[in-house]
Amino acid sequence: MTRRISILGATGSVGQSTIDLIARDPDAYDVVAVTGGGNAEGLARDAIRLGAEVAVCADDGCLPVLRDALAGTGIEAATGRAALLEAAARPVDWTMSAIVGFAGLEPGLAALAAGGTLALANKESLVSAGPILLAEAERHGATVLPVDSEHSAIFQALAGEDMASVESVVVTASGGGLRDWPLERLSAATPEEAGRHPNWDMGNRITIDSASMFNKAMELIEAHELFHLDPARIEAVIHPQSLIHALVQFRDGAMMAHMGAPDMRHAIGYALHWPERRHLPVDRLNLAEVARLDFHAPDPVRYPAIPLAFEVMRGGALTGAAFNAAKEAALDHFIARAIRFTAMAPLVEEVLRRMAPRLDGDTITLDMVSETDRAARREAAQIVTERPAWI
Ligand code: NAD
Ligand code: MG
Repeated sequence: MTRRISILGATGSVGQSTIDLIARDPDAYDVVAVTGGGNAEGLARDAIRLGAEVAVCADDGCLPVLRDALAGTGIEAATGRAALLEAAARPVDWTMSAIVGFAGLEPGLAALAAGGTLALANKESLVSAGPILLAEAERHGATVLPVDSEHSAIFQALAGEDMASVESVVVTASGGGLRDWPLERLSAATPEEAGRHPNWDMGNRITIDSASMFNKAMELIEAHELFHLDPARIEAVIHPQSLIHALVQFRDGAMMAHMGAPDMRHAIGYALHWPERRHLPVDRLNLAEVARLDFHAPDPVRYPAIPLAFEVMRGGALTGAAFNAAKEAALDHFIARAIRFTAMAPLVEEVLRRMAPRLDGDTITLDMVSETDRAARREAAQIVTERPAWI
């Protein structure tokens, strides 16, 4: 039986790895929607290769190129946010949510409304609106499966286990591209230097977030939301080889570690075939060649995003939405060379401090999350124009 699938963020790093797996077994899938931000030519090429029903670019300016590239193929071409949400809402069995940033939240929610499985790479939706996303899945009988490699690893280590027997989880971190730089050099790091990863080949934004460990901060919050774990039971550890992706500590003293080559096609493929395990084209580890595995605790001075993540978890309500937006804004300002690498964490902290009175609430709605997202970006821009000394 063929499965109907959609790929949101198809032109990105996770999207392309997803397509690599799908294209190896074309008869098994009916591809409904593929979406991208820009890159209409690349998107059209993939839509044709996969025989998709519709291809959507979020950027309206892409329409002429997309239409031209798909002329005569019978594949619908559309652009803009409304078209993206409409395509995401088309009923399918499985959707890959791999848009980067807060922009991925609403398309993910639209996909959940159709009741299929949402393979969730877009961690920003969990950090900004975890309870909303999971409640929406439950309301529609939909399934959310983690695709972030650490959370896929935790999910796999938890298979068949009772959550009551879990003491803690440990997510591993590579330490990012600047991990061996002397502390005093970090403030001079450029977006290019921060955008090189020692182990993983990923999109530019998440690669820079790995260097600052904002990515790990996001993942700690993601684990808190997905597995309903108290912050005191979640920990990050630096593991430079990136071969163990996460560990679960059980109450009988056993620790289950998930190991594998650093290749997103493992986590994507696991979510694609779950609950089965099928052959995947990822490298196998030769333990004698691996020889050793190193671990050390992240230094909070080098990686201030980690202690911030715990504040965000303790804050709850709209704190995650403000944190995510402030982090996205800080990254935008760093990429635009308006602030230093080391100014990102103080900027996020200052946005949270200024917004603190506005982040409480018993029940949070999507409108409240969206308003918080916009307000946090405005606050970040305001602080950057004030140019405090640390910027
Ligand atoms: P990427 O930048 O390579 O791709 C992002 C995709 O989103 C592209 O298709 C892009 O065109 C699209 N996009 C960007 N802005 C958009 C907008 N406003 N509206 C609609 N579409 C838009 O990113 P990536 O590295 O593939 O990451 C995708 C998501 O998966 C992120 O949330 C990231 O944190 C998460 N993730 C990525 C990896 C990885 O290995 N790359 C690992 C774990 C989690
Ligand atoms: Mg990850």
